[in-house]
Amino acid sequence: KAIEEARAPFERHQWIGAPLTAFEAPLGDTQPVPNPARPLDTVGQISWATPDTVAAACDAAAPWDADPATRAKILEKAADLYEENYGELFALLAREAGKSLLDAIAEVREAVDFLRYYAKRAEGEPPVGVFACISPWNFPLAIFTGQLSAALAAGNAVLAKPAEQTPLIAHRAAELLHEAGVPKTALQLLPGAGDVGAALTSNPKVGGVAFTGSTDTAQIIHKSMAKNLAPGAPFIAETGGLNAMIVDSTALPEQAIVAIVESAFQSAGQRCSALRCLYVQEDIAPHFIKMLTGAMDALQIGRPWEITTDVGPVIDAEAKAGIAAHVDAAEEEGRVIKTTPTPDSGHFVAPTLIKVGGIEDLEREIFGPVLHIATFKADKIDKVIDAINATGYGLTFGLQTRIDDRVQHVSTRIHAGNIYVNRNQIGAIVGSQPFGGEGLSGTGPKAGGPDYVNRFRRHEAQS
Ligand code: ADP
Repeated sequence: KAIEEARAPFERHQWIGAPLTAFEAPLGDTQPVPNPARPLDTVGQISWATPDTVAAACDAAAPWDADPATRAKILEKAADLYEENYGELFALLAREAGKSLLDAIAEVREAVDFLRYYAKRAEGEPPVGVFACISPWNFPLAIFTGQLSAALAAGNAVLAKPAEQTPLIAHRAAELLHEAGVPKTALQLLPGAGDVGAALTSNPKVGGVAFTGSTDTAQIIHKSMAKNLAPGAPFIAETGGLNAMIVDSTALPEQAIVAIVESAFQSAGQRCSALRCLYVQEDIAPHFIKMLTGAMDALQIGRPWEITTDVGPVIDAEAKAGIAAHVDAAEEEGRVIKTTPTPDSGHFVAPTLIKVGGIEDLEREIFGPVLHIATFKADKIDKVIDAINATGYGLTFGLQTRIDDRVQHVSTRIHAGNIYVNRNQIGAIVGSQPFGGEGLSGTGPKAGGPDYVNRFRRHEAQS
């Protein structure tokens, strides 16, 4: 039924989006929003916010003064509306973000979980005031909703800027939040690119920023906040990762292969939690690599809205070119172990396996379906952990082993926000397994955890 919903009624539907503000905003530049799997098709049209609209939205913003119980009820109502409109949300996730249906189902679920979880944490303590929420395209519904629902639960006014690649799903979600009863002064949507985000995060009316995206952009925003915003303005950042997994000779190979394929290639590798560098114990490596390349052969790459698709497109031509340049460089050095065929049209990138000496050979996070593999000797596992920690990131880490002491030893030594043992390195559960990293990967607290909403409240030191 979900597939029919996502497909049939929306096959030719076009969405229209624009700034959603507490005043009559003039229409800015209007542009088509492409479909990454079929770039000649459009998903709809978006009108961008201008710097003037951003300034006026900051002036019009007013913290949500409804009592906490009313705020909670309205956020719960928004969760109901997301659930009622799931078919349309799936269709937008597949068409605008290239998400496979399985990914889309999980994403709508996560967004609903965030709304209900943070609704329960609405309390009477004072909000920061006006919060800017800047979100990425790779979880255009879940992260967008998670940031703003925490900010709203605490009673803030939110100025939300979705990623330029995925404005239409954000627009639809904001409409549903307004329909549920969130006042327009408490939630305004400002579609645009980095310049709109920069205008927002340097406006002195903004009292705090929640950001998810690249580490580089986080550092730019942090600097701008220090210059333009009140001292002590909270900055909640979730950024990149350079995530590793260790597979030792006691691991169950079939289980490890499934976990690796899902962790590295689902969502076409466009997850900050995705596996980038796999370490396999030397003794089992030749056989293990054969199994892994066999599993890669079975991956289906294609249109995200087909149920049998494992790997959809990457988000745009620029992303594709960046990944291709990395793979070409490895190819020239003879390090590509395996690559797979892909469709000709659309922004598809072949799932690829590249040999490296270790994680230190990766200069940056490659945000696509590219997995790097290194081997290690049994007695050198601590060296591997040191190399992983030395990247400075600390988001996710995976371990496949049947040695109990090793689970203890490795997980206390590794710096990572989320550690996955004998399973895929994917996901979080709002409430019970919150998500977030350390070091270059983020500021904490973890999203979907008990402390998250507190960061959107005013504390003594700030007032
Ligand atoms: P990604 O690699 O996920 O595209 P970015 O960090 O470029 O990561 O983008 C994440 C979000 O940050 C997007 O909404 C983007 O428009 C926004 N952004 C980019 N540059 C800036 C900036 N200088 N100030 C504020 N927001 C920005």
